[in-house]
Amino acid sequence: MASPAHTPHDTAPDLIRDTRVRDIQTTILDVPTTRRHKLSNTAVTHQNYVHVRVRFENGVVGYGEAATLGGPRWSEESVEAIKANIDTYLAPALIGAPGCQLEAANLLLDAAAKRNTAAKSALNAALLDALGRTLDLPATALLGGAVRDRISVIWALASGDVIQEVEEAKSKIAARQFNRFKIKLGFADIRTDLRRLERLRAELPEGTEIIADINQGWSEADCRKWLPALEALDLSLIEQPLEAGNLAGMARLAKISRIPLMLDEGVFSPQDALHGAAMGAGSVLSLKLCKHGSTQALQRVAGVALAGGQELYGGCLLESSLGAAAHVAVFATLPSLTWGCEHFGPLILSEDTTQDSLVYEDFHVLVPQGPGLGVVPDADRTMRFQRTE
Ligand SMILES: [Mg+2]
Repeated sequence: MASPAHTPHDTAPDLIRDTRVRDIQTTILDVPTTRRHKLSNTAVTHQNYVHVRVRFENGVVGYGEAATLGGPRWSEESVEAIKANIDTYLAPALIGAPGCQLEAANLLLDAAAKRNTAAKSALNAALLDALGRTLDLPATALLGGAVRDRISVIWALASGDVIQEVEEAKSKIAARQFNRFKIKLGFADIRTDLRRLERLRAELPEGTEIIADINQGWSEADCRKWLPALEALDLSLIEQPLEAGNLAGMARLAKISRIPLMLDEGVFSPQDALHGAAMGAGSVLSLKLCKHGSTQALQRVAGVALAGGQELYGGCLLESSLGAAAHVAVFATLPSLTWGCEHFGPLILSEDTTQDSLVYEDFHVLVPQGPGLGVVPDADRTMRFQRTE
């Protein structure tokens, strides 16, 4: 009996060999936003991204994105630092390495540079994208498989102008895109912020979910004084009110707050997650690739948090559809994701960076089903937004 000329067993070893990384390119993009986005310590009118292009020896190309918010203010990484550290230290560590061995690649990156988690996560996403395209599988399949095909989404109101914010929220509800809202606080004095929240609560339909993100802007004493006012406004969640390192303060507040507290800037590593959960420094954890460094590390952090009894929330840093697709893929694989996710970033850009954008439907973002991350950078827009100086 003649054996078949071509079987999966014949081709698989070649494919795996061919995923060795041939080259890596980085590009800084500055993309205008549709409105000013304010946080407790910065405001942005352009979103800055580093796009990473990884090419395998088999010729397949994959892309990943690192986003920052207004330079090295949200965390220590800026797009300039991310690009320099990838070009100088991280990319050389991956050249020639098998792209199919994602954890081994993470170890190479960790040996080449401490932290630099946003830079590493962009490389990890690009490897995942190229590997998915090589195997014709969605990224979710390479991360354990999706347990959901859509995720409930949250929109951030962050212009600071309450009239504009009410209008923006109402238009998102009318379009059936978003009916859950996060309000950025901490950039005005607290009484002004509270008046803004009161107005939003009064103007939005009854029962609308409102989350407050204080971005480390309040002291523990501020929180003790004003928590009752936030409780009276029936907020559903309070995000990172205290400085990132103050887990003990968060734990003291969590004991007295009737609103759940969420850790964001306070948890980057699995060890941070372990400490946060063990200390009771918040019952919800915000997950972001830029903090954890890879899709695998995000899953580990999520596992620690779940083991510690915390609920999970999918955070964002205003990623375009490229960065958002990597987040949505890994979020889709988490066994539980009680709070859904943000990832409204593509809709706050004047133009997205990818050919097709993520799809928002019936208050959910759909998990891309195509190979790799399921989105591809748009060449023309990449050229226009590329920083040249
Ligand atoms: Mg946050």
